[in-house]
Amino acid sequence: MEKILNELPQKAKEAEKENKKFFATLKKKPPKHLDTLMQELHEEEFERIDCLTCANCCKTTGPLFTDKDVERISKHFRMKPQQFIETYLRIDEDKDYVLQSVPCTFLGADNYCSIYDVRPKACREFPHTDRKKFQQISNLTMKNVAICPAAYNIVEEMKKRLGVKNPNNNKANSKSQYPNLK
Ligand code: SF4
Ligand code: SF4
Repeated sequence: MEKILNELPQKAKEAEKENKKFFATLKKKPPKHLDTLMQELHEEEFERIDCLTCANCCKTTGPLFTDKDVERISKHFRMKPQQFIETYLRIDEDKDYVLQSVPCTFLGADNYCSIYDVRPKACREFPHTDRKKFQQISNLTMKNVAICPAAYNIVEEMKKRLGVKNPNNNKANSKSQYPNLK
């Protein structure tokens, strides 16, 4: 996993141009079955990958904390929300609550999250590859493929399934922007 994580930023950089073009097309005309496809790709990838050998999201980027997250997690620690905020959080340039530092304070040396059951919504949903209308978070996804090997693999598989990676598909069906989508 270490080797994969070391190589990931460079691989993401190399794919950036193709990804930009791909997501621009996807945004303009999302295929009808995109939600189903994303669900399928997400499930397939997360059956293969073991996040406990990785934890790169928790190590390199923190989640944003909603008011509900703050309320739930501070209750878990039997702290007042304000006390929790002052101890662990800061406000970023978008005026969101984020961690004061990364790796995340709640990440253990064994890569387990010490607040797993009450963790922020953003952690539960990362890397958002099974969300509906996936085309709407393309900018975020382009950042995430440099951090998360699962997101990288999902986007690469997406491009294959939608025909971007196979030049013969354009000959097979020149009218379709996504020749491989059934
Ligand atoms: S979600 Fe992605 S970055 Fe986070 S631990 Fe799993 S594979 Fe690694
Ligand atoms: S709260 Fe847990 S899941 Fe979220 S970044 Fe921290 S360690 Fe990772």
